[in-house]
Amino acid sequence: MKKHVNNANQEDYLKVIYQNGGLDEHVSNKVLSQKLQVSPPSVSEMLLKLSEEDYITYTPYKGAILTDKGAEVTATTIRNHRIFERFLYDSLDYSLREVHTLAEELEHVKDLDFFDKLYNFLGQPETCPHGSMINKDKIIFEKYTDPLSSFEIGSQVEIKRFDDSSKLLEFVEENSLGLGQTVNILEKNEEDDQVVISMNQNELVVPLAFALKIFVIPLENQN
Ligand SMILES: [Zn+2]
Repeated sequence: MKKHVNNANQEDYLKVIYQNGGLDEHVSNKVLSQKLQVSPPSVSEMLLKLSEEDYITYTPYKGAILTDKGAEVTATTIRNHRIFERFLYDSLDYSLREVHTLAEELEHVKDLDFFDKLYNFLGQPETCPHGSMINKDKIIFEKYTDPLSSFEIGSQVEIKRFDDSSKLLEFVEENSLGLGQTVNILEKNEEDDQVVISMNQNELVVPLAFALKIFVIPLENQN
């Protein structure tokens, strides 16, 4: 049997724990298995390893919670990811979807001075090209947290942030969505799991799973 455990893999686990509330509460093996698409035995094996190295505290039947050390490493990975995205987007002209995929690989570069240098080189940007904050410490406060799905029919909103997930970013690209765009909420049907919006005189059906991950601010009501 081939066993392939490397640092990148560990960091990916820590990131998923972090993104699912693992700073304050236990994240279950089941959640990790689903999000990382790995088998439950692999998850258990990795969690034991991560707890031996003091990145997490692992409690059987409850799951994993990040230690201070784990939180710090993870916040650094997320920061590096976002700095790289900024560089790829601003300087090399990659798309919103492409920068995310490439940064997933590049974020694991070990030379931390490199990221500080790149950050300064880019003029200390506040956000990644998806609108997420480039954090300075281990707690990441996002500036934009109201999802598209939380606004009423008739609202006019401006898109400020997309969650970093490949599926969402594919949808964003296919439908030419972008930060700074103004959209109107035309229809909502929670049972149908979708929000219908209009932008540039086009209508677009946004599945609820995506509408929860597009963050906006309200503009004046057009009455
Ligand atoms: Zn991003």
